[in-house]
Amino acid sequence: MSSTIRRGRTIDGISEKVYVLLDKWALRLGISHWDIRVNFGFSGPGYAQMSSEEPEYEIATIWINARLCRKELWTEVQFDSIVLHELIHVKLAALAALLPDTVEAIKLEETFVVGITEALLKAEEEGS
Ligand SMILES: [Zn+2]
Repeated sequence: MSSTIRRGRTIDGISEKVYVLLDKWALRLGISHWDIRVNFGFSGPGYAQMSSEEPEYEIATIWINARLCRKELWTEVQFDSIVLHELIHVKLAALAALLPDTVEAIKLEETFVVGITEALLKAEEEGS
């Protein structure tokens, strides 16, 4: 299956690293057919963020904070963790859109995403 992850401009070698991980996890999560745009211009407080205003059309944008995600500072596992985390948000976007817009609902979604991310990374580490 070919990926529809859209490649933007390259930033200091981290973009290619991120795209490889996006392809890997999107395939495993069964969301390779989504139209996922990647933007490295995010400058918020976190490492990355996902937005999907139209989950019914399977369109999403992943914002990567290129300033914080510097390849010389980051291990492979950290990159893996960030990319996987955002793709799980993509996977759950249609469900999340049904949740009320409350702090509790946002925290609950985040708890699920963090838990699933940890479980998948642990499974990969154990080679299963
Ligand atoms: Zn999150």
